[in-house]
Amino acid sequence: MIGIVYHEDYNKYDLGIDHPLIGNKPKKTIEFFKKQGLLEELKEFKPKKATEKDLLRVHNQEFIERIKTLSKSGGMLAFDTPAPKGIYEISRLAAGGTILAGENLLKGFEVMANPLAGFHHASKNYASGFCFFNDIAVAIELLREKYKLNKFAIVDLDVHHANGTQEIYYYDPSVLFISFHQDGHTLYPGTGFIDKIGRESGEGYTINLPLPPKTGSKSYLEAFDMVIPPIVKQFNPEIIIYQSGVDTHHSDPLADLSLVYQTYYYLGKKMEDLSDTTCKKLLVLFGGGYNSESSLISYYNIMCGILNKNEFIKEEEIPDMRYETVMSNVSELKRKISPYWNL
Ligand SMILES: [Zn+2]
Repeated sequence: MIGIVYHEDYNKYDLGIDHPLIGNKPKKTIEFFKKQGLLEELKEFKPKKATEKDLLRVHNQEFIERIKTLSKSGGMLAFDTPAPKGIYEISRLAAGGTILAGENLLKGFEVMANPLAGFHHASKNYASGFCFFNDIAVAIELLREKYKLNKFAIVDLDVHHANGTQEIYYYDPSVLFISFHQDGHTLYPGTGFIDKIGRESGEGYTINLPLPPKTGSKSYLEAFDMVIPPIVKQFNPEIIIYQSGVDTHHSDPLADLSLVYQTYYYLGKKMEDLSDTTCKKLLVLFGGGYNSESSLISYYNIMCGILNKNEFIKEEEIPDMRYETVMSNVSELKRKISPYWNL
C-alpha cells in the first residue's frame, strides 16, 4: 500500500512573492499527480499539527519560543528565511505530516510521501535555508518513543547538504545519515565534506558525498549504486527516510547539478528496491525544488519509479562532464569509511 499526506494549509508555507520557495507547490504537485492519473493510486491522509511535545524531542524550548514570537508578528528567522505570520502553525503541520506518514509505515503501508517535508537545514536550536523545524528528526524521535524503533536510515538526495539533520545525529549510531549534495565550496550551506563521518559512537554513521557543479545523471546514478545500497543493507534499518529534493535538476535556479527527468525515475526505483530488500518502509519527503514546472515533473517521476511504472516523463540527456571527478570523490569516500563499511 502506498499513501500520501496532504493538507490545503500546506500552501500557506509561503515565504513571500520574491522568495525562491514556491508557496503553492504542494497544491500544484497534487494537481499534477491527479492530472497524470497517479493520485488515484495513492491513499490520501490529512495530517494534524505536531505538538509542542513532539518538537521538544528535537528542538530546545528557547528556539520554539523564538519561532512562536516571530509567527505572531512576522519577521526574519535567518538571512534567507523570512518568518511569515502563522508559520509556527504551518511548520508544525508539515512536521505532523511527516509523523503521520511515518506512523502509517508501521500500520501496513510500504511507502508514504509528504510533499511539504524534508526541512533538513533546521538543527536543535537554529534554522535557516527556508526551514523552521526539522520534521525528519521530529518524526524519528516520535517513532523511537512510541514504536521503539531504533535503526533509522536517512538518504538525503537534495542538492543542498543536510547540515541540520547531520548535526542532530552526528553522535548517534542509531541513525545512519547519507547525503549526496553539491560541493559545499560552491553552494549553501557550505558543509558536508567527505571527512565529516560522525563522532564518538556515531563515527562512521555520517556519510557525505559532495558533487561538483555540472554532475550529470550517469555519474550520479553510478555513485548511488556504489555507495547507498551496500551501506544501507549492511546497516539493515527498520525504516528508510528518503529526502528526495529535486533541486538537483539542471533547470533549478538555486543550484548547478545537471540531472534530468529520467534520473528521478531511476532514483525512485532504486530507493524502492532498497526498501523492498530491507525493511519495506519508505518515507518519501519531497524536499527542495525551485523551478515550478520541472519540480512537479521530477516528483512525479520519483513516484513512477517507486510504483515501478513503465511510463514516465523523459527529456534530452545532458552529457556528463564530471564523471572522473565524481568517481574520484567516491574513491576518496570509500577510503575514508572503509573501517566501518564493506564497499
Ligand atoms: Zn535543497
